[in-house]
Amino acid sequence: MTMPENLTLPTRKLLIGGDWKSATAEERIESINPANGEVFTHIESATEADVDQAVKSARRTFENPVWRRMRPLDRGKLLERVAQLIEGQAEELALLECLDNGKPAHLAAMVDVPSAAEIFRYMAGWCTKLSGKTLSISGDGSQFHAYTLRQPLGVVGAIVPWNYPLAMAAWKIASALAAGCTMVLKPSEVTSLTALRLGELILEAGVPEGALNIVTGSGHTAGQALISHPDVDKVAFTGSTAVGKHILRESANDLKRVSLELGGKSPTIVMPDADLEQAIPGAAMSIFFNSGQICFAGSRLLVHKDIYDTVLAGVSEVARSLPIGNGMNQETMIGPVISEQQRLRIMNYIDIGISEGSEVVTGGGNGGQDKGFFVEPTILANTDPQQKVFQEEIFGPVLTATPFGDIDEAIELANRTHYGLGANIWSQNVSTCHRLAEAINAGTVWTNCYFVIDPAMPFGGFKESGIGREVGEEGFTMYTESKSVCVKLD
Ligand code: NDP
Repeated sequence: MTMPENLTLPTRKLLIGGDWKSATAEERIESINPANGEVFTHIESATEADVDQAVKSARRTFENPVWRRMRPLDRGKLLERVAQLIEGQAEELALLECLDNGKPAHLAAMVDVPSAAEIFRYMAGWCTKLSGKTLSISGDGSQFHAYTLRQPLGVVGAIVPWNYPLAMAAWKIASALAAGCTMVLKPSEVTSLTALRLGELILEAGVPEGALNIVTGSGHTAGQALISHPDVDKVAFTGSTAVGKHILRESANDLKRVSLELGGKSPTIVMPDADLEQAIPGAAMSIFFNSGQICFAGSRLLVHKDIYDTVLAGVSEVARSLPIGNGMNQETMIGPVISEQQRLRIMNYIDIGISEGSEVVTGGGNGGQDKGFFVEPTILANTDPQQKVFQEEIFGPVLTATPFGDIDEAIELANRTHYGLGANIWSQNVSTCHRLAEAINAGTVWTNCYFVIDPAMPFGGFKESGIGREVGEEGFTMYTESKSVCVKLD
């Protein structure tokens, strides 16, 4: 299947100041369907000059009273309208995501599209809640009235990756617009289509021209131009830790505000008292969902030695049972990975795992697919914490399994990486759950559940998994700046 007949592609242009424009360069970027490796369309490749135009447009709208002085309630209504439009296009958006990214369309309809709609609805509520505090200052004996104002940060440059293209774009756009910022968004060059469709919906909702600008293009050209632009006040990034570090260094030049949501190597810890009927499928899906291309995927399975063999056998059985294939098919659970380059990278990690001493208990191949970029769910057992596959983010459907002896060893193993994004804990003992949740260095700890992502729950990482938080009140606040106002009273 190349492209569903009922699917219309979005405008493949740059969105600048409310208009769809061609890039100033002739070059176009191919969009490839990961399920068959075929080129199905092209997108524009923005240059530094195009990015500059987009930033100027975002700045003009930020300064314009139509946006700046808009009643908070009216801003909220606009965001609510975007949520409704996303819901109205749910099927089409899910199909687009499947075509561009490879993920199963029925799962995109269940996860990605609702997540995008819900963040707009949630952030619509924050528009009316931007508030400061009154302060009891002691001063110099005179009387003062002092308070803080919370104000929008300004122009945001947002860069999002290819694993959740629509949802990641929505998280950043909704939070920034709710706070009163304006934005230039650069989607990943391999998955720009749903961001472009979102741009169309945002215009249709009546969001003022220039509040959201979209520049498609490569990270090295368009992305680089955005993060180094002197008139961008904040960079909001989701992607690899390597690029995140580069952005932080670039931002040091003019001290741009930065929020970084980066990689992970999250543990799934199964304690001896866990309910295995829940823990086994939970452990499997926390790594194999979205073909493992999730920053907080539970990619390291840590199991108490007494139940290690049972859990390993159970998770392997789930892995083998997941239908692999084209994401347009309703029964597919494992779609292709994003690109041939990524497939080779994952296969290379599997080879490294084997050469460093792990044993493949299931997977390791392409699931019998004759085209496309497929990797079957793979488990590397008896992995030692020193191994690369235990330490480095693979970003594919590859799980390492390691036994532990007691809770202290579980904590030590869980924390033995440079990352700290998420953790999944499985235990029926409340004290054990709380002890682990407190001791694990991660931004989110899921206990007897996995993959619960909610607009009200701040998301982000410890250590090299990032800086700052997305969504929730903290995520919203990251798009604001605090100002102290001090007035001397006569
Ligand atoms: P990158 O971090 O390179 O890409 C993420 C985004 O950053 C894309 O929009 C990319 O653009 C952009 N980008 C790349 N270089 C620059 C730059 N110099 N300046 C500004 N923006 C830039 O991830 P990859 O796509 O290369 O994936 C590699 C690995 O990163 C994965 O295997 C995985 O380990 C990790 N990753 C983690 C993600 C997460 O959610 N934490 C998401 C994606 C990847 P473009 O794609 O157009 O080059």
